[in-house]
Amino acid sequence: MKYRVTLIPGDGIGPELAAATCRAIEATGVEIDWDVQNAGADVMQAEGTPLPQRVLDSLRKNKVGLKGPLTTPVGTGFRSVNVAIRTELDVFASVRPARTYAGIPNSVPGVDLVIVRENTESEYVGIEFAQGSAEAAQLIEFAKKHTGKDIRTDSGIALRPISVTGSRRIVEYAFRYARQNGRKRVTAIHKANILKYTDGLFLEVAREVAKANPDIAFDDMIVDAACMNLVQRPQQFDVMVMPNLYGDILSDLCAGLVGGLGVAPGANLGENAAVFEPVHGSAPQFKGSGKMDPVAMILTACLMLRHLGEREAAERLERGVEQVLSEHCAVTRDLLPPDQADRAVTTEAMVDAIVAAMPGATV
Ligand code: NAD
Repeated sequence: MKYRVTLIPGDGIGPELAAATCRAIEATGVEIDWDVQNAGADVMQAEGTPLPQRVLDSLRKNKVGLKGPLTTPVGTGFRSVNVAIRTELDVFASVRPARTYAGIPNSVPGVDLVIVRENTESEYVGIEFAQGSAEAAQLIEFAKKHTGKDIRTDSGIALRPISVTGSRRIVEYAFRYARQNGRKRVTAIHKANILKYTDGLFLEVAREVAKANPDIAFDDMIVDAACMNLVQRPQQFDVMVMPNLYGDILSDLCAGLVGGLGVAPGANLGENAAVFEPVHGSAPQFKGSGKMDPVAMILTACLMLRHLGEREAAERLERGVEQVLSEHCAVTRDLLPPDQADRAVTTEAMVDAIVAAMPGATV
């Protein structure tokens, strides 16, 4: 069966990693008809928007997308296209596994956890009011009237909505994921001691959902304590579910535990669409270097193949990755200690090695 999948190559290092990944997928023998859709800063110049309607239409039609990273200007300029895609398609569950593969220097042994991040709410709704604006002044006045508390008049203000609906569906998803993937425990991460009406609500809903899923163990942890525990004893965690911003931060932390952003895959899943993208960004300073690590995006492709029902192909491709990492002969610079940097290979050479190590590769 041939699948039609939207491919957003991204910008910065995205296009070179996307090309490498398509090659690795092709070698599994799974046939994919790529519907290539560019987005981001380059498209902004030509089409007046970084996220043209055609990109969303393609994702809606094909229901599955593989996406490279897209740059977001910091502080000013257009808002994140990555966040807009997740919101527009309502791919509310971001799933980011962090697993230790043998052979990666400075990785912590025995990590095998999954972060389930709420993808559509909290700070990421992007509702902010600039310092000095009339709206910010009104909100400051409103807060003073209803809470008696003073906010400095030169403050910018962000809204952070967390709903029962959004919390329930992400926690229910985490339990479903745990059950379907043979996982034993879900841990809710929050700051409910301080943010009583937002994280407090998230935790209350999580506890309710846990009661309805007694076959999977449940506990919770405050986000700062979770960070310390992740650094000291990450092996204790299984599935971790959390609001958007904590998921963003903790998934990079977990990537750091298992070898860095070069090996951290991700998926965004909803009722009607699934968009697969690595955790890392566009690293624009390395654009065109041909030296970046393709593993994160190839492992992302493994998640996509499983979603398509091509479990056996995904396992073969992952085995190719595992073997290359454990032999540690053909790896990119990020996977080597500084004193061995001179034996790093290019992205292309690493993909060659992965394909060669993959059982039953077709090219
Ligand atoms: P980044 O992930 O792009 O890069 C941080 C560092 O991680 C790089 O300097 C590099 O040392 C390392 N790294 C990242 N990917 C790697 C790979 N495949 N192989 C080897 N090393 C790798 O993060 P940043 O510099 O904070 O962000 C750059 C841009 O990417 C920003 O515009 C940001 O908004 C965007 N971004 C996009 C996404 C996405 O598209 N989903 C995610 C995160 C950041």
